[in-house]
Order: sequence, then C-alpha cells, then structure tokens
Amino acid sequence: MNAIAKRSCGECSACCYTHGVKELNKDNFIQCQYTRGGGGCGIYGIHPKSCRVYSCSWLDGVVGAPEDRPDKLGLVIGVQRWQYRLGDPEVTLVFEAWPGAFDTERGQLFAHTQMQQGAVLCVMSKEKLPRFSYYLYRLSTTEAYGLRLEEKGYLVYWREPQD
Ligand code: SF4
Ligand code: SF4
Repeated sequence: MNAIAKRSCGECSACCYTHGVKELNKDNFIQCQYTRGGGGCGIYGIHPKSCRVYSCSWLDGVVGAPEDRPDKLGLVIGVQRWQYRLGDPEVTLVFEAWPGAFDTERGQLFAHTQMQQGAVLCVMSKEKLPRFSYYLYRLSTTEAYGLRLEEKGYLVYWREPQD
C-alpha cells in the first residue's frame, strides 16, 4: 500500500499570517505576534485551540507536491471544500501568503491544475479589494455557478480552459 508520506509544517508559519485567531483577536493577513523568526510558534504547547486544530490541505497531503509547502508556494489552501447546492462545483479557499503570490507563475500553475479539475477558487488577498475573488474555468460544470456568483455581485474572473 502506498501511504502518503507524512508532512510536517517545519519552518512554515504561513497560516499564522493568513488566518485569523479569535482567541488572540488577530485578523486574517496580520502576522501573529508569537511567530518565531525562521518559523514556528513561540508559545507552542499553550497556543490557542484555533491554532492546534488547524491544518491546511498541503499539510494533510491533499494538494500540492512536497515542495509546494505554503511558505514556498505562497498559497495556503483550505481543507474544507464548499458546495452550496447539489451539483455545484466545489469551492476551494486560497489565501495569499504574501501579496501577489497567486499571480506568480507558480501560483498560476497551481490554479490551472485546480481549475482544470473543475474547482472554483475563492482567493483571499490582503491587497486586493474585494477580498474574495472567484476564479474559474468556463466549463459545463462551472458556468451556471459562476453566473450565479456574478448575479450576487461577486467578482468573478473567467478563464478559458487550455488543452
Ligand atoms: S500553512 Fe500549513 S504547512 Fe504551513 S504552518 Fe500552516 S498548517 Fe503548517
Ligand atoms: S499562536 Fe502560534 S500557532 Fe497560533 S498563530 Fe500565533 S504563532 Fe501561529
């Protein structure tokens, strides 16, 4: 049996920046005051429950190659996939670990792979307004959903699938 190699956060602390921690009154896209220089948690062991229970999709081995650790790829991918109605495509939350990370060649390659599989990406970024931007390929499985997002006033970036 081919078990997925266990991954560890190592020096990554990307989610300590991208994610809010309610116990610390810390909002998204603010570096946590307890982040150690070089990565890791300065209060590990007594860190808040929100931090203890969190893992990203890369850590869970669900997305990305081993070298795509979020502090290197620049993207923290949420574990939970949102599906608002039966038949809707799955929505994947993507948080930029630094402004512009999604727009890099590496970020776009990741996006391309996900969207080719029919996912809709909901990208959260510190710099861009509105903070929720949806990216999807115009596929038979995604088009109706993307149009509904637009009707609701969300910013949708349509991409044409490439062969
Ligand atoms: S972003 Fe993922 S790999 Fe990085 S510290 Fe958070 S859970 Fe670990
Ligand atoms: S308390 Fe520790 S684990 Fe939680 S966000 Fe801050 S540095 Fe990260």
